[in-house]
Amino acid sequence: MQPFSYARAQTASDAVRAATTGGSKTRFLAGGTTLYDLMKLNVETPANVIDVAGLKELEGIDASGSELVLGAFSRMSDVAAYPAIVAEYPAISESLWRAASQQLRNMATLGGNLLQRTRCAYFRGGEPFACNKRKPGSGCSALGGIDRGHALLGGSDTCIAVYPGDLAIALVAFDARIDVLGRNGQRTIMVEELHREPGETPDIETTLQPGELILRIRIPKTIMGRASTYHKIRDWESYAFALASAAVALDMDGEIVRAARIAIGGLATRPWRVRDAEQVLVGRTLTLQAAREAGEAALQGARPGHDNAFRIELGARTVADALMIAKQRA
Ligand SMILES: Cc1cc2nc3c(=O)[nH]c(=O)nc-3n(C[C@H](O)[C@H](O)[C@H](O)COP(=O)(O)OP(=O)(O)OC[C@H]3O[C@@H](n4cnc5c(N)ncnc54)[C@H](O)[C@@H]3O)c2cc1C
Ligand code: SF4
Repeated sequence: MQPFSYARAQTASDAVRAATTGGSKTRFLAGGTTLYDLMKLNVETPANVIDVAGLKELEGIDASGSELVLGAFSRMSDVAAYPAIVAEYPAISESLWRAASQQLRNMATLGGNLLQRTRCAYFRGGEPFACNKRKPGSGCSALGGIDRGHALLGGSDTCIAVYPGDLAIALVAFDARIDVLGRNGQRTIMVEELHREPGETPDIETTLQPGELILRIRIPKTIMGRASTYHKIRDWESYAFALASAAVALDMDGEIVRAARIAIGGLATRPWRVRDAEQVLVGRTLTLQAAREAGEAALQGARPGHDNAFRIELGARTVADALMIAKQRA
């Protein structure tokens, strides 16, 4: 690990000021479960670390208004178990319960979860491996390498790394937004617009400006919340990242679908909302056949590599199964 300076911010504005002054080698520290991990691997080498623990602007869970508001420093385990979220937004609770281990969820925060970096082994493996994300212009070891866990959707000729988080998939299905604070003040962006596809610059992963701090997540209340689920398929049920996942929510008129929301995870370079697949269902009776067609539509355009073609069928089935689970809750 490289030497670095550590400071604890007293307010959100202090944190942003320190991050702006510190430049591109500054990182915010929340639970540390990703940042310290990558620092020990020498993949992240910040010169300055700004601890945002205890900032009141990032705290709190509020389900009382027209939106569900989740402070960015809320711990994953607290949000997963929050009674109103378990009842009204099971997809969000499940996306957190099915992520990582209990010890990690007790430590890790929502803001850190959204901004976790890819688990691509070549990225994490350091110098022996070419990686455009870690070292722009060096190449991509996954293209032509072992790509069983890599993206089928949203990849480019420079990078096919999967976005690994679970929470963002559920948030995208619910049209969630985040409030962020930067040197020019506060702004709000859709979670769907937070993560970028790699294109020619896989090292630029989000649309955040340097030094911007996520304050909170806001999720509009919807009757579709109750009829929702986050379905995750992985190599080990104890804990593992998704091979394929789906967040779905339904508005049903008896057996007929009035509206559907579908987002998929573990398959794309960013959280992937699939509106064409949603439209496949509207006005139809939700049978297994209809769910299956929506699943196939969700994987339209998937580009397999060497070892990952099996995840196209897996992804379609994951969406179909998620829809049938959500139907039971409608
Ligand atoms: C073994 C293991 C298994 C895991 N499995 C899963 C899984 O199945 N699913 C899943 O979703 N995740 C999984 N994770 C990832 C885990 O959920 C993340 O490490 C965690 O959520 C990160 O939160 P943190 O608070 O520890 O973030 P930190 O490590 O403190 O920060 C992560 C990044 O976010 C930035 N950051 C943090 N907070 C803010 C903020 N408010 N504003 C701006 N930037 C911020 C930091 O600067 C840093 O770059 C796993 C992790 C491990 C180690
Ligand atoms: S897929 Fe992306 S992160 Fe993985 S080696 Fe290639 S450039 Fe690096």
